[in-house]
Amino acid sequence: MSDLRTLYQEVILDHNKSPRNFRAMEDADMTLEGYNPLCGDHYMVYVKMDDDVLADVSFTGSGCAISKASASVMSTIVKNKTRQEAGKLFDQFHDLVTGKSAPGNKEELGRIAVFAGVSEFPARVKCASLAWHTLKAALEKQANPVTTE
Ligand code: ZN
Repeated sequence: MSDLRTLYQEVILDHNKSPRNFRAMEDADMTLEGYNPLCGDHYMVYVKMDDDVLADVSFTGSGCAISKASASVMSTIVKNKTRQEAGKLFDQFHDLVTGKSAPGNKEELGRIAVFAGVSEFPARVKCASLAWHTLKAALEKQANPVTTE
């Protein structure tokens, strides 16, 4: 089994301890709930749009270190991106945590790359991708809470 510590690299620990954009957004254009019943990760994701740009992204809720760090990193990465760019980042992140992306691409993925180790732990993939799935559904104007099941 791979070294579990690779899952808890410094970046993940830092974002778990001091999550970025961890607040409710009163004037959000989209608000959506995401839930991972397998682990108990439960978050609300808030998005404020400025035309086609994600002007602000925040989240509240609780869950394991991986899910919280991932939501925090996600909120910082997609902010000020267009819908299309955010969608592309979602695809890159999803490929990375499910082990589909080529190792050569990881450098350009920057902060997302710290979650590459998650691909070796299938149960953790849902933790890491919960906030991203919730964001994607929010941007698609889905009203029903997102669940990983
Ligand atoms: Zn979790």
